[in-house]
Amino acid sequence: APDREVLTWEGFGDASRELTQQVVDSGWIPDLIVAIARGGLIPAGAVAYAMDVKAIGTMNVEFYSGIGETLDEPMLLPPLMDVSAMDGKRVLVVDDVADSGKTLKMVMDLIDKHGLSLDGSSSVRVEARSAVIYKKPVSIIEPDYVWAYTDKWINFPWSTLPVIKP
Ligand code: 5GP
Repeated sequence: APDREVLTWEGFGDASRELTQQVVDSGWIPDLIVAIARGGLIPAGAVAYAMDVKAIGTMNVEFYSGIGETLDEPMLLPPLMDVSAMDGKRVLVVDDVADSGKTLKMVMDLIDKHGLSLDGSSSVRVEARSAVIYKKPVSIIEPDYVWAYTDKWINFPWSTLPVIKP
């Protein structure tokens, strides 16, 4: 069996506190936290509580499986967040893991592009940073805040148990 990195609920509790500590220690406090759904939802919620940020948004990104094939690129799925809600804000984008890094890069590029399209007015500038629990060595993006590094497949506590079916 392939070697796995197992994150327990208790381990996640520590990870989310330590990841938040990194952000606070950097002296950069976000106005808004954006969770990349679904993997980043629970980490983003924990970080938001740990630093008492109440403004939360989500961006739903999945590697889209077409008919009989899996595409190589992540896709933004509805419901879509209004990116103009980020205008003039410090935005912390939170995900579970930067593996290939394509999901996180897509979201960061989208936010940066929005800032560029509104060029000229510095009041709408979005300052976005990213935080992940894990980063893998193959990632095409270097997140600003990382709790731990691994090249193994990670078992997260929220997606390891069997799905509860009717
Ligand atoms: P990406 O390859 O774009 O960085 O990762 C996309 C998504 O795939 C992640 O947000 C995560 O939900 C899922 N994923 C990637 N690597 C792992 C892993 O090692 N374990 C689990 N459980 N999910 C992963």
